[in-house]
Amino acid sequence: MQVKSFEEYQQVYRKSVDQTEQFWEEIANNFLWKKKWDKVLDWNFKEPKIEWFKGAKLNITENCLDRHLEKNGDTPAIIWEPNDPHEDHRILTYQQLHDKVCQFANVLKNNGAKKGDRICIYMPMVPELAIAVLACARIGAIHSVVFGGFSAQSIADRIKDAECNIVITADGSFRGTKEVPLKSIIDDALVQCPSIKRVIVLTRSHTPVSMIKGRDVWWEDEVKKVETQGNPHCPAEEMDAEDMLFILYTSGSTGKPKGVVHTCGGYMVYTGYTFSNAFQYQPGEVYFCTADIGWITGHSYIAYGPLTQGATSVMFEGIPTWPDAGRLWDIVEKYKVNILYTAPTAIRSLMSFGDDVVKGKDFSSLKKLGSVGEPLNEEAWHWFDERIGKGNCPIVDTWWQTETGGFMISPIANVTPLKPGYATLPLPGVQPVLVDENGKEIEGNGVSGNLCIKFPWPGMLRTTYGDHERARTTYFATYPDLYFTGDGCLRDEDGYYRITGRVDDVLNVSGHRIGTAEVENAINMHSSVVESAVVGYPHDIKGQGVYAFVVCPNLHDDPELTKKDIMMTVSRIIGAIARPDKIQFVSGLPKTRSGKIMRRILRKIAEGDTSNLGDTSTLLDPAVVEEIKAGAL
Ligand code: ATP
Ligand code: MG
Repeated sequence: MQVKSFEEYQQVYRKSVDQTEQFWEEIANNFLWKKKWDKVLDWNFKEPKIEWFKGAKLNITENCLDRHLEKNGDTPAIIWEPNDPHEDHRILTYQQLHDKVCQFANVLKNNGAKKGDRICIYMPMVPELAIAVLACARIGAIHSVVFGGFSAQSIADRIKDAECNIVITADGSFRGTKEVPLKSIIDDALVQCPSIKRVIVLTRSHTPVSMIKGRDVWWEDEVKKVETQGNPHCPAEEMDAEDMLFILYTSGSTGKPKGVVHTCGGYMVYTGYTFSNAFQYQPGEVYFCTADIGWITGHSYIAYGPLTQGATSVMFEGIPTWPDAGRLWDIVEKYKVNILYTAPTAIRSLMSFGDDVVKGKDFSSLKKLGSVGEPLNEEAWHWFDERIGKGNCPIVDTWWQTETGGFMISPIANVTPLKPGYATLPLPGVQPVLVDENGKEIEGNGVSGNLCIKFPWPGMLRTTYGDHERARTTYFATYPDLYFTGDGCLRDEDGYYRITGRVDDVLNVSGHRIGTAEVENAINMHSSVVESAVVGYPHDIKGQGVYAFVVCPNLHDDPELTKKDIMMTVSRIIGAIARPDKIQFVSGLPKTRSGKIMRRILRKIAEGDTSNLGDTSTLLDPAVVEEIKAGAL
């Protein structure tokens, strides 16, 4: 499934466009099916209706577990690093993971779970989270993982939306010095959720919890029951390729989260293929994705993608800044990590601690680096490349979305020539187009527009749970016959793609359309700046003015001078047109719990309209918003 040279990439890409179905059929043949498809693809973007590998039967967990047992049963599947570096780490081989998944799948069955049920998972980043996810897939139950940092109200909203009947949680979780009482938060959420009949509670933090009779059971007790019942094996439920695998709510950067639905067959093929090809994963390599399984990155590139390929994954319970900002680098050293996949927010945060935290760490095992979640600005790109990759590791800047299931536009490690700040080129099978406001395709190079995809790919969303119309209007109605990503994008003279920010966030200054990412990229090049966010606000003359929120933690000089200097930097890099009209220094930016900047909140503040900030349930730290409101210019 891996291309080995740029020429080969170009050939394969051509084929994937000219003979798309044949291309995906050949990829799909690398997986284990109980029965193969009658038809590779049936689709229309009108309804929309997208069906891949129609008529095929499979179970994704057989691809993630069973098929590796004979040759690679002893290969580590998960290496787990706890929050506290003094606690013992754990290693689960493929055989052990398989056995635990079967065991817990039987626990679920004993507790009344059936194929098609929706099961909410609200857990810390411990191996049992992966086990719970896979156990659901084993029996054909649909998981809805809710990130372990969400509030009771956010969980209740998601449980109600998906009509879940079981919750899997833990007593509590550790994140840095904090202990989060997960079970107690679940109890608060469930007051509103009569559909929940069973709560299975894992012991992790030993936080005292109250157990409700008839509803709540302990994970460990239930596992013991299964052990005494004898046969620990759990046969894998036969699933149709288009049966639902899971529901996952988006990050909520632009509004109310959407319950994105992925199905078994296409998602498996797509995550397995993209993981293997983009990272050029080789047997024996140790791969570390720093995301949480509560996000799509964790679903596709900690759980399913790597496991289908028999890879060894590091799973980390804690946070990058505890006990100190060298933690990720300690983990790289400890497990001799070869591939490190992280996010711009983490990179920028760790950069701000200066060189001391990377000094003396051993990065020699690293071969490939990756990034996802937001545009990776050039300064952060170079820091990642030089300080962490030592100039020897390709940076795989993967552009994709919860809705796309897997990587869409991304370099292939050691194959695609790189450009800092660029997601580079579409992977085989992905057909991006740029369109103008009217949906007219903008052809040629050296252009920018709204990023759409014109042909289906196996990993794409099928619907939004319980509300197909929302999927249609959000993604398929803006431009006829196109999937609309919501992102703005530039295609340069070489045909390389660079994400310029969310279309909703695009600035229109004196008739010039300017992407937020471009301005932020320039601001971040100033030596005192760690991070920034740019939004537009009504301006009498220009239509929109540029308002920049800038994080400069060590502001030694006169702030007014620094502001002037930042403005000059932007003028020099992009042009006077993009120069900020207002700069507000802030201690931090409002972010989603997955670490993305929520510009829509900043836009309201810049417009002076703070009465209704919209859906803030996915906001990480509300205090930051109050501080920014108070200091608004
Ligand atoms: P919501 O859809 O609820 O507003 P969200 O878009 O943040 O939330 P995700 O699916 O987690 O939810 O994020 C996908 C988005 O993240 C992309 O549409 C894009 O804006 C941004 N993104 C992800 N990876 C990259 C990347 N490598 N470069 C630039 N932007 C990226
Ligand atoms: Mg989105």
